[in-house]
Amino acid sequence: NRFGIAESLERLGVKSKNLGSSTGESWLDSGKDFFSSVSPVDGSIIAQVQETSAETYESVISTAQMAFEKWRLVPAPKRGEIVREIGNALREVKADLGKLVSFEMGKSYQEGLGEVQEMIDICDFAVGLSRQLYGLTMPSERPGHRMYEQWHPLGIVGIISAFNFPVAVWSWNVALAWVCGDVTVWKPSEKAPLSGIACQHIVSHIFKKHGMPEGISSLIVGDYKVGELLSHDPRVPLVSATGSTRMGKLVGKAVGERLGRALLELGGNNAIIITENADLDMAIRGALFGAVGTAGQRCTSTRRLIIHEKVYDEVKNRLASAYSKLVIGDPLDERNHVGPLIDRAAVEMYLKAIEKVKEEGGKAVVEGGVLSGAGYESGCYVKPAIYEAENHFEIVQHETFAPILYLIKYKTFAEAIALHNGVPQGLSSAIMTTNMREAETFLSVAGSDCGIANVNIGTSGAEIGGAFGGEKETGGGRESGSDAWKAYMRRQTNTINYSTELPLAQGIKFDI
Ligand code: NAD
Repeated sequence: NRFGIAESLERLGVKSKNLGSSTGESWLDSGKDFFSSVSPVDGSIIAQVQETSAETYESVISTAQMAFEKWRLVPAPKRGEIVREIGNALREVKADLGKLVSFEMGKSYQEGLGEVQEMIDICDFAVGLSRQLYGLTMPSERPGHRMYEQWHPLGIVGIISAFNFPVAVWSWNVALAWVCGDVTVWKPSEKAPLSGIACQHIVSHIFKKHGMPEGISSLIVGDYKVGELLSHDPRVPLVSATGSTRMGKLVGKAVGERLGRALLELGGNNAIIITENADLDMAIRGALFGAVGTAGQRCTSTRRLIIHEKVYDEVKNRLASAYSKLVIGDPLDERNHVGPLIDRAAVEMYLKAIEKVKEEGGKAVVEGGVLSGAGYESGCYVKPAIYEAENHFEIVQHETFAPILYLIKYKTFAEAIALHNGVPQGLSSAIMTTNMREAETFLSVAGSDCGIANVNIGTSGAEIGGAFGGEKETGGGRESGSDAWKAYMRRQTNTINYSTELPLAQGIKFDI
């Protein structure tokens, strides 16, 4: 029990064996098998969770449908008050939940805490939003008429989330969905189900305390088959899915076939352009955290550096020197910079990518490899690696969810932009430059084609206040701040005639 993880689990209500299906305070026995959540930190089994069955899924959905009938009638600012209390509850458990996230997923404790902070921040955002679900009023072309739009909740929002942000992504969705008047059914990643169970415990008693029905926040667990129950279900008007592009294409197809709405947050292949006018100290710092933070397992991790030929060697050498100082080990130990990959299958993918980049002609700047020996018993610890590569390499065109960074050289700025945009994904992007023309061109219509474009910051680590998401194979969805809430509601246009005439629109005459 290093770092007091056992006490944290107990305070979060996570037991050694947990039912995985819940409509709130009620936990349902599906009769199915239990599966283990294994920590990549030391390879130990943290606890077991029971998978959701098709029958249990049915009771979850019918409870959620009934809950929606009531929840939608609660005034939005009152729903906001409940979300405010959820944010406060998260403040109280920040250390425990951050630790569980770190232990179950393998990110550093600091990043685990950061994830919980993001949950708190989005709750605060949603509280304000609960009084700002604005619709427009527009002038009618007909006399004695008033026209306006209003936003109504959709119903059940299904949330499918990835392992790498086991709790924050859920909170981005639910905080908005709940103030919008929706109810939610969450399927967390099968690789981090305990984080889901802990969150469900945190929110359930708050809904109960306010006399709210079961079914506003529900949890189901299992692998892709349980996710498919949501994507195929016409009772779930919106499915918000975060994960690989492969998953997004399947979920998008299933939801599209029934003409539901899919909000897709998929893989990235994020690059930083380092121009000859960059502040290289900042560029190195930004690239380093972007590439090795969370062991390269962020959707916004930096995968490619597109470097001007004049500064290429300096960037390469300084990065190699920084990499040689990285300390790899237990992410709960704050002296370490890099933790493990999520599991051994991820290690295999990392090794295959290294093999492939070399096969295609890539050259090692910092060689990768799997670590073994004391402290690395889980077999999930790998060395962050750097390869010189070309953008068109097949492996460079793919997102490998591991700390592998590709260096690509450019001569002209136009070439840099073309290389930057020359991948199928379009999530996060950055330019390091002190030149105003370069910065503004990068942000212009002829610049980055990504959903996120930064100047003099790296690609990873977005704030909740902006809309988060990306283009092309990243799926086009937007979550979190700005007006992302509109995806969780249906818009209704209303025209009211307060005159004594009944004029038709477009001046049409229809007299008998
Ligand atoms: P994954 O695609 O393997 O799984 C994600 C979730 O989808 C899991 O809950 C899984 O059970 C479910 N799932 C898989 N196939 C499904 C199907 N056919 N139908 C329904 N559900 C299905 O992804 P992962 O390995 O957990 O996460 C890593 C990926 O997530 C990376 O590609 C990363 O870039 C991406 N990601 C994107 C964002 C973003 O906001 N754009 C954020 C985090 C992670």
